[in-house]
This record gives sequence, C-alpha cells and structure tokens, in this order.
Amino acid sequence: MVHVYGTTVDNETRCTHYHTDLDIIAIKFKCCDKYYPCIHCHNEAETHSAEQWPAHTFTNTKAVLCGVCRYEMTIQTYMQATHCPQCQSQFNSRCRLHYPYYFEVDQ
Ligand SMILES: [Zn+2]
Ligand SMILES: [Zn+2]
Ligand SMILES: [Zn+2]
Repeated sequence: MVHVYGTTVDNETRCTHYHTDLDIIAIKFKCCDKYYPCIHCHNEAETHSAEQWPAHTFTNTKAVLCGVCRYEMTIQTYMQATHCPQCQSQFNSRCRLHYPYYFEVDQ
C-alpha cells in the first residue's frame, strides 16, 4: 500500500488544505519520492523546496494516486482524465490551476 504523507484528514487523501468531495488525489514529488495530497502538505513537512516533474517524464512516470481506489497513474493519464480510469471517481478540474506547483507546464 502506498503511503501518503502530509496532514491528511481521511483515507482518501483529502488534507487540511483541500478537502472537498472532489479532492481525492495525491501527487508524488520528484524531489523526495513521497506522495503528498498537496504542495502545502509537502512544504510544511519538508525543509527543501518542491521540484516539478519535467515534461519528458509525463508519459512514463506514475506520480498521481487516486485516493479512493489507490490506482497509480502517469502524469499524462491524469492530465487527460476527468475521472479515475479505474474507479471512475470524479477528479477536481480546478487542480489544473495548480499544475505549475507539481509539473513543468507552460501556463
Ligand atoms: Zn520534496
Ligand atoms: Zn495539503
Ligand atoms: Zn480511483
């Protein structure tokens, strides 16, 4: 079972910062290889600054975890999905606004 760090408030990876019905994913950080529910959880727990995944890793790096069914998907799969490919739980489309915290994207 993948461990999710940070200040989680339930077992579906919601945290003290983001905890709506749709906030059900965790992201593995390149810098420390740990899953956190969000950038704030990472920064509160770690002393280093967060690194973003370079674009060339999007297709072959499983760095996003569905908190409902624990399915790990590649960054590209996550970016193209509105729902979890395995359990069909809906993802929060507003996470898109936060991609630059986690992934090297042009926005
Ligand atoms: Zn880190
Ligand atoms: Zn958080
Ligand atoms: Zn799922």
